[in-house]
Amino acid sequence: MMITAEIICVGSEILLGHIINTNASYLSQKLAAEGIDIFHQSVVGDNPRRLFEAIHTALRRSDIIITSGGLGPTIDDITISAIASSLSLPLVFDKKVLRSIESHFKKRRIKMPSDNKRQAYMPEGAIAILNPVGTAPASIIQYGNKSIIALPGPPRELIPIFEGSVIPYLRKGYGVRSTIFTRTIRTTGAPESAVNKKVRRFLEMKGDVTVGIYASLGEVDIKITAKAKNEKETLGKIRKVESRIVNVLGDIVYGFDDDTLESAAGKLLLKKKLTIAAAESCTGGFIANRITNISGSLKYFKMGVITYSNASKAAELGVPVDLIRKYGAVSGPVAIAMAKGMFAKAGTDFALAVTGIAGPTGGTKARPVGLVYIALADRRKTICVERRFLGSRADIKLQASTMALDMLRKALI
Ligand code: ATP
Ligand code: MG
Repeated sequence: MMITAEIICVGSEILLGHIINTNASYLSQKLAAEGIDIFHQSVVGDNPRRLFEAIHTALRRSDIIITSGGLGPTIDDITISAIASSLSLPLVFDKKVLRSIESHFKKRRIKMPSDNKRQAYMPEGAIAILNPVGTAPASIIQYGNKSIIALPGPPRELIPIFEGSVIPYLRKGYGVRSTIFTRTIRTTGAPESAVNKKVRRFLEMKGDVTVGIYASLGEVDIKITAKAKNEKETLGKIRKVESRIVNVLGDIVYGFDDDTLESAAGKLLLKKKLTIAAAESCTGGFIANRITNISGSLKYFKMGVITYSNASKAAELGVPVDLIRKYGAVSGPVAIAMAKGMFAKAGTDFALAVTGIAGPTGGTKARPVGLVYIALADRRKTICVERRFLGSRADIKLQASTMALDMLRKALI
């Protein structure tokens, strides 16, 4: 039996191109992985009549209609009333929903604005899914053997509700189950072309397991995908290809699936009971930010300093002023002195230091924008690398922080 779904994203901001419709891409991927076909996606502005028409059309041709956005408390949030009128259902007040909205405000010690009461009205018979992150409750409305599922617009609200409540509902109600499995091998430290060369024969593989390569700034992912009837068999097939690819790639593999470089480095520090500090110039605290994005990082991250000026490099890290004068603030010797100074000050097992030119101004022929020195000190030695990154200011900061975290990771394996 083929089950079809359709996605309607609500919001004039999307139509105007002010925000990117990541919800449609997320929902489509997830639904496809569940074996549900998607033949239509649409975007409608905050306009009741056009949304009414879109829902009407969708009801004619699809089994499952998922809307995103327009569940907020204000008068231009129209999704719920448009669904109700498309199905000729009255809106009814749901006390339980109101209580959950009230408790959301209470937890944050904020008085609930009276507008939020609007969000407690649901089409008659709707199943309310309380929103653990925001105020807008999601809802599922069954209409014969069709379902309309209304989700909030912000991805950080939509994703947990979709995964926690909607997928289980679809699996149960429509007997669908996951048919596609994907395993991601995450790498950093080698350019896409080099990774591509190493895994070419896997990329060309034909059959029920396929391999793809996806590059982002400073990182390359390898995705192994298999379509399945039987979960166990498929995972077995994926694992076989995975271990062969990991073998070929070697130590550029830092993790799998949801691992990040900072989580991978953090795990290694935890396991070895070692600690780290960071002295940052051009990354402006980005390395410390990434490290502390990992819950539990307190166990291994001791401190970070942002020494942006020459004077602060001398005062905070004891970098000799003469050294800066002789080699320049963006130089290997200064990066090494910063790492050594941080190591002495923090008393950690490792200290990272970064100095560079993030641009777009400030570059010279000899010292172009993107020139970055990264040093890593431990008890025995201090290593330093020079890199020339390309891209915007944000791109250069990101690549420098990635390189630094990878130096740390490599020192731990
Ligand atoms: P809220 O209560 O926050 O207003 P809502 O359900 O009314 O929730 P919208 O007002 O439509 O949602 O959108 C709120 C924000 O969510 C948008 O400003 C945007 O940042 C994000 N958002 C909405 N729709 C999408 C989408 N399709 N893809 C990605 N982000 C989206
Ligand atoms: Mg809104």
